[in-house]
Amino acid sequence: MDKIFDLAIIGSGPAGMTAAIYAKRAGLDVLMFEGSAPGGKLVKTFEIDNWPGEPNISGVSLAMKMYEHTTNLEVQTEYTKVISIKNEHVKELHTEDGRVFYTKALIIASGTIENMMNIPGEEAMIGKGVSFCAVCDGAFYREKDVVVIGGGNSALEEAVYLTQFARQVTIVIRRDVFRGDLQAQERALANPKIKVIRSHIPVEVLHEIKVTGLKIRSVVDGTEEVLPCDGIFPYIGATPSTQCIHDLGITDKEGYMIVNEKMETKIPGIYGAGDVVVKPLRQIVTAVNDGAIAAQTAFHYIKEFE
Ligand code: NDP
Repeated sequence: MDKIFDLAIIGSGPAGMTAAIYAKRAGLDVLMFEGSAPGGKLVKTFEIDNWPGEPNISGVSLAMKMYEHTTNLEVQTEYTKVISIKNEHVKELHTEDGRVFYTKALIIASGTIENMMNIPGEEAMIGKGVSFCAVCDGAFYREKDVVVIGGGNSALEEAVYLTQFARQVTIVIRRDVFRGDLQAQERALANPKIKVIRSHIPVEVLHEIKVTGLKIRSVVDGTEEVLPCDGIFPYIGATPSTQCIHDLGITDKEGYMIVNEKMETKIPGIYGAGDVVVKPLRQIVTAVNDGAIAAQTAFHYIKEFE
């Protein structure tokens, strides 16, 4: 018989890593899955100003500190994606590289993936001027003009980040107001390199071999204009990464996991944590809160497991 882990955790962002730390310290045999790099959205975040005790820390540094914490505790990590889950008494996890793992309990902390604009030219230009990660790609835009789409905290923060490289950063928002918080708005608006175009939506990525511009349309009078630019960074929200659990009936119509205050789904032994669950505030602090509670709930479930 293959090994049966006490607890498997899908995702190694703040929620998943916190769950792993709590579960390991409670004496559980823990397996954590990561499809790309540990840290989740942290590694794509330039600066974090609201992690208590660290007034200003880079996302990569915080991710590395959390990851080292898990490795110090000898949490086993598998770098592969779980693509399907068979919910028997012991849960069966199938990975994209063809392996199967068994676990008594499962925490899904798989986070979200960035939404695309779904406009002509976008997909073809990914990596050639369209980027979803300013921290990863910002340095390619030294003294160039870039456009950021969206008015949430991500767009505002990443626009400010991009000003250290770019000549000019134009933020395009579809309403006349931002969605992001006041502090982030003030910081962006105070930056002389940032220009804002309100009440416009993106309609086409213009390109030759690389991006040459973005066509935008006014939502007020329908007029169109072209913003010549070298880079386009869409930050227009995200979609939960829950493809592997769609048929388990534990997600809402948008794909977010439905959990109670103990992070339990309606399936015994399956829990959700972090950005992937239905919640009013998606932050690092709320993700780590979820991870700790999910691990504690799983611990009690495993102790009763026969
Ligand atoms: P949000 O959902 O907060 O913002 C998305 C933005 O994109 C909105 O301005 C929205 O416009 C716009 N938008 C959505 N779809 C389109 C479209 N098709 N075309 C043009 N514009 C579009 O997403 P974020 O990723 O910014 O943030 C997600 C969560 O993470 C939030 O809760 C946020 O507070 C949190 N966060 C916190 C941070 C921090 O505290 N340090 C950092 C980053 C994120 P509209 O407003 O009109 O809907």
